[in-house]
Amino acid sequence: MNKKVMEDLQVSGKKVLVRVDFNVPIKGGIITDDNRILAAQETIKYLIKNNAKVILFSHLGKVKSEKDKTKLTMKPVAHRLSEVINQDVIFIDQTRGEKLEKAINDLNDGQVLMFENTRFEDIDNKKESSNDPELAKYWASLGDGIFINDAFGTAHRTHASNVGIASNSQISVPGYLLEKEIKFIGGIIDQPTRPLVAILGGAKISDKIGVIENLLNVADYVVIGGGMGYTFLKSQGHYVGDSLCEDDKIELAKELIEKGKGKLILPVDIVVNDQFGNDGDIKVVDIDQIPVDYMGLDMGPKTVAKFTEYINKANTVIWNGPMGVFEMSSFINGTAGVCKAIAAHKEATTIIGGGDSAAAAIQLGFASDFTHISTGGGASLEYLEGKELPGITCLTNK
Ligand code: AMP
Repeated sequence: MNKKVMEDLQVSGKKVLVRVDFNVPIKGGIITDDNRILAAQETIKYLIKNNAKVILFSHLGKVKSEKDKTKLTMKPVAHRLSEVINQDVIFIDQTRGEKLEKAINDLNDGQVLMFENTRFEDIDNKKESSNDPELAKYWASLGDGIFINDAFGTAHRTHASNVGIASNSQISVPGYLLEKEIKFIGGIIDQPTRPLVAILGGAKISDKIGVIENLLNVADYVVIGGGMGYTFLKSQGHYVGDSLCEDDKIELAKELIEKGKGKLILPVDIVVNDQFGNDGDIKVVDIDQIPVDYMGLDMGPKTVAKFTEYINKANTVIWNGPMGVFEMSSFINGTAGVCKAIAAHKEATTIIGGGDSAAAAIQLGFASDFTHISTGGGASLEYLEGKELPGITCLTNK
């Protein structure tokens, strides 16, 4: 990694600005999943241990009007964080102004302060989301020139709370979470340990065209399952019945297969049903045997075995997107089979590239068997597309 890191900083006694990703689900003031808070504690604890004055901020949801402010306050997050780090977190219900400035200037070494949702600034001309220069300069002025970005989820965006502050700070480095994303997801694109096998699934090709194209360049094999597989199968002349299929992407799918020159691996059998649901006439068929009016909702056992062979050949595996409608118990086997095969392949670096596959791995109990689970949705996809992420580019080079 060509970026400076936290260990390069002298943080003792300094006001350190830290952009975290505390965009957690909250229902009726209760946090329903605190994983993002738990995941940020390593960075925060390092700064506390090294006597920094820690100033945390994050976005939470989308703030469009004054009305949204009540349900999108960071207050419950600050409370939960204080439990997690076993230390008081001073919460200031402002994004700017005297009260915030005074609280920051009163901080003792090793104390933690969190200010209000950065997107409260979006009510006024989208100042946070459009990287308003005045806001960026102001937020940067609250610290002592040191900025830590630990929010991968927004790294593909140019906001005041990441790029804006970085461009007004003397030194900007990734926190531990972002450092891992750069190492693992960035590493795949820059210098993969080969063979690199990418397993892609999910609903549509159209969402992942850039990812497929880029991975066809950098990976040794690109294995395609899930709903997006049917457009590829149809492009090869297979009848796909009522399966999810993007007819306007058939030509593209054909071109990708040709461009891949044998790198692109497709299913050989699938689980079909005569309706979209757990009930119905569910059966396993070879891909050239899909009955009229049936739809493919999962990969069959021969496909799982075939995909497992490719997984076992790999030194690096990246997986993004479920192999079927895993939310329904009748169609979870493909996703579970692939997830289990990747988790069992201990000799390889195994990475989940965000989104639904992470949810599936957690649900199936395999999450801890992976080398890395990316925390970003859109950011992971753009990184895998080979795009520069502004929230990383803005950090200080070595
Ligand atoms: P994505 O967000 O693109 O990764 O897509 C995830 C969604 O794709 C999940 O909700 C799955 O239920 C859905 N999906 C996967 N395979 C299929 C399929 N064969 N037919 C319909 N939906 C699917």
